[in-house]
Amino acid sequence: MLPRSNAASIHPRAWSYKGTAGMEVIGGRPKVGAAAERTRQTSMRDVALIHELAHALADQSFSLEKFTKKVEQDSEKSLARQAVVEGQAMWLTNAVVARRTGRTKAKREGDDDGSEPSGKFPVFDQAPLYIRENLIFPYSAGERLQEAVYEKRHQLALSDVFRDPPTSTQQVLHPDKYFAHAHPALPLLPKDPKGVKRFAEGVMGELDHSVLLRQYASSEEAQEIAPKLAGSQYRLLEGKKNKRVELVYASAWSDAPTAQRFFHLYRKILEGKWKKLQVASETESVLTGEGDDGWFRVNLDGNVVRSTEGWEKPVD
Ligand SMILES: [Zn+2]
Repeated sequence: MLPRSNAASIHPRAWSYKGTAGMEVIGGRPKVGAAAERTRQTSMRDVALIHELAHALADQSFSLEKFTKKVEQDSEKSLARQAVVEGQAMWLTNAVVARRTGRTKAKREGDDDGSEPSGKFPVFDQAPLYIRENLIFPYSAGERLQEAVYEKRHQLALSDVFRDPPTSTQQVLHPDKYFAHAHPALPLLPKDPKGVKRFAEGVMGELDHSVLLRQYASSEEAQEIAPKLAGSQYRLLEGKKNKRVELVYASAWSDAPTAQRFFHLYRKILEGKWKKLQVASETESVLTGEGDDGWFRVNLDGNVVRSTEGWEKPVD
């Protein structure tokens, strides 16, 4: 999605014009009628071009390829930087289009959980939620972050986001956390059992948890709980002999009651992602049983929820 990668053909905002005949969304506000038609004629062609020019401009000061490649191993940092790149291009495009059409720039509306109103990006409506959210996030949440930084830092905002980029999806979703430099606090993972080797690990952020909760619990719970994530990570392990894939996961929350709620919701997540789930034991802080991939154990420890999944035998 950088200047070098033929981005115009894959930009969701450019696509959205095709799917919304007679009504379009620029800067988050639908417009109908003759004015919309006039804007549409200029914007369909121009918006993609302005967007690419915005990238080219940024690329002159900050090598966009380096900027995004530097953190490509960290999915949270990487998505946050994509939000800087695409968010700024969206924001600038919106500013140019607004000026041309004599409108004041549409004000961004409220805080949200990263979800997009249905119909804003019609081509994505059929895509799985996780993929859709990850594709749209840099454009929508990134633009809102750029707007928030602009309100505070004016002209400097355009370079600020590159010099001091957000480090998590949470910082992008909540500019106050970006300004406060609130970085994720990663909870310790359960110890690796014997006889396994590590083959993948990573961090999970607010967006990941928001999608998980929306998918397997409810939008309301996602909106309430996901913003209270303090940090999360996971690791995939492989049994040296049996080649089983095992998952260890931990998430820390802003407070114990939220962790408690998430602990209970995690059961719903497991029920949702597996066809069968047999509970062996359940207390206020421990849940064990067997799912599609093998044995699991989830436990609540203060403000941290940990899970081990995919074990051959019951986990102690
Ligand atoms: Zn772009």
